[in-house]
Parts: sequence; C-alpha cells; structure tokens
Amino acid sequence: DIFCRSLPKIELHAHLNGSLSEKTLRKLGCLDESILEYHKLLNIINKTDRTLDECFELFKIAQTATSSKNSVYLATQSVIEEFAQDNVIYLELRTTPRAENDMTKQEYIESVLKGIKDSKSDIIVKLILSIDRRHDKVCSEDSLDVIVKMREEYPGIIKGIDLSGNPYVGGFDECLFSKAREHGLRTTIHCAEIPNDNEVQQILNFHPERIGHATSIHPDFGGSKENWQLYCKAKIPAEFCLTSNVVCGTSKCYAEHHIQQWMKNDLPFSINTDDKGVFCTSLSKEYEHVLNNFDLSKADLWNITYNAIDHCFASTEEIILLKKKMAEWKETHA
Ligand code: IMP
Repeated sequence: DIFCRSLPKIELHAHLNGSLSEKTLRKLGCLDESILEYHKLLNIINKTDRTLDECFELFKIAQTATSSKNSVYLATQSVIEEFAQDNVIYLELRTTPRAENDMTKQEYIESVLKGIKDSKSDIIVKLILSIDRRHDKVCSEDSLDVIVKMREEYPGIIKGIDLSGNPYVGGFDECLFSKAREHGLRTTIHCAEIPNDNEVQQILNFHPERIGHATSIHPDFGGSKENWQLYCKAKIPAEFCLTSNVVCGTSKCYAEHHIQQWMKNDLPFSINTDDKGVFCTSLSKEYEHVLNNFDLSKADLWNITYNAIDHCFASTEEIILLKKKMAEWKETHA
C-alpha cells in the first residue's frame, strides 16, 4: 500500500537480532546454510503452526550472525538503513548485551552505538538495552551495571531498559528495574504475552513507561477483570506487534487481535514490527494489516503514528521536530 509506505512512521519495538533480514545475514557473511535454510523455512512453514518456543529457537540462530564486534556494527547499520527505507523517521532499537568469544557486554553495546552514530540515514535512532528473562540474577545485575555505566557516557542515545525473552521462563525482578529507574533509564516491559495474572499485576503496579504486547490483560484474552481495571486506570502505552503475535499463535488472527480493545476504549498504543527479519514483515506491512482488518481511515493511521510520538523516549526538542515532520507530511499529502 503506497499510503502505508510513504507515511512517516515511528518504530518503538524492534529487537536488533530479530530484525536481521536475509539480505543482512548474507551481508554479514552468514553463508552458513543452517542460518539461511532456517530463515527460508520460517517464511514457508504454515505460520499458525509455529509455537512461541520455536520462535525463540530462531532468535538463537539469528544471534549467531552477530558474534563479533564488527558483525554487531554492520548488523546495526543494515537494520537502521532498512527501517529508514521504509520511511521510519524515529527508531528505538533494542538489544540484549551479550558477552561472546572475545567480545564483552560493553563492547557489544559500543558496537551497536558505533553503528547508530555512523548511520547516514535520515532517521533518529535511540537504544534500549534488554534484560533477558532467562538470565539469572547475577547475570542480569552485571548487565545492568554495564548499561548504567554506558548510559552515563551516552545519555543522548541510550534511553531505556527492557525486559524480554521467552515468557515461559524467568520473571519480572522489580528491584532490578527500580534500580534502573533510579539511574534515569526509562522502562518498557514485555507484559502478558501469555496469561500470567500475578506477573501482569506486578508489572502494572511498577508502572513502566510502556509495555510490550499486552496480549492477555483483557478478560476476553485470558486476563483477570482486576488487571484490566488496573490497566485502564494506569493507561500505560502498549507496543503492539500484530504479525509477531499471529505467527507465534498468541493471537488467533489479525482481525481478532487485542488491539481492538485499545481502539474501543481509547487507550494508548503504537504499532511496531518486533522482529521484522524473523517474522518477515516491515512497519508499512504492519500498518497495512491494521488498515485492512479494522474499520480505520488513513487519517486514523496518521493519528496513530502522531500519538506514538508522545510514547517515545526522545528529548523534548526531538519530539517537537518529529511532530513538525508529521504535520508537514500531512499538509503535502492531504
Ligand atoms: P536481541 O536482543 O537483539 O538479541 O534480539 C533477539 C532477542 O529479543 C530474543 O532472544 C528475545 O530475548 C527478544 N525477543 C524478540 N522477540 C521477542 C518477543 O516477541 N517476546 C519476547 N522477547 C523477544
């Protein structure tokens, strides 16, 4: 759809290694057939048959493509370039710092930062660093120490911290996220990807700046009435990733996605890709799914993007600039 493609877009939920396209994998010299075959396979197999656990196996494979400083740097640049080509004007990229081979977590982050700084595309990029639910307390605290140190050096780029990883494993460590918050990091937390009322309640009470997916909060989607009421009061902006949910089977289909509850109740949300490589999507395609499956106009889509600017972790000046860009686009395309 030409409109969805040319609309200036805001991407708030994109995992670096899940965003690697087949083209990028090839560029990284990943001629290892196991990576490419897997990548092809996932575009072919009956998508509704894929489980969350199988999706998490895919991330591990994608991560083998970025096991050196240079590959992390090149991957970052490629991903940014592809988002810019899709008319994304603001990107919050997130990634889990990994110590691998002779690369430390700090060097991993430095390589991503270098990729961001050297990018020549016309796009504002910020970095969110992820804590993996599967990691133990010692590993997560070690990651946080590095993240806090790096943020002090690069406060203009490193903006926040995220909790992600397989929702069947591990949990939300409130102490860790409170500590991150005390150090000035914004927080966004994967929440309710699967029904888990206790954890959802803990996360909502912590009141992160944003939550990811938010699938099983509404009672029609497996959440408790109490948590839905709690959410409606808290009104924490949700980051929706429709294709990811449909492919992983946490949403039955696009038309039945829980985004409808947010639209119906006028709650804040943004539309995002999650893992455009692994799920073979783009932000334009995600907008198209929303346009085709819900009773929306093109003006509504513009409003969704415009409102998402208020959920982003950019500076006030950058927010003003982004809004100005959106308004100018509207004038010339009205
Ligand atoms: P990375 O952090 O850049 O290595 O990106 C891949 C990682 O992002 C995965 O290993 C997961 O930890 C996380 N991730 C990607 N998609 C999802 C999701 O839908 N739910 C939870 N975690 C995810």
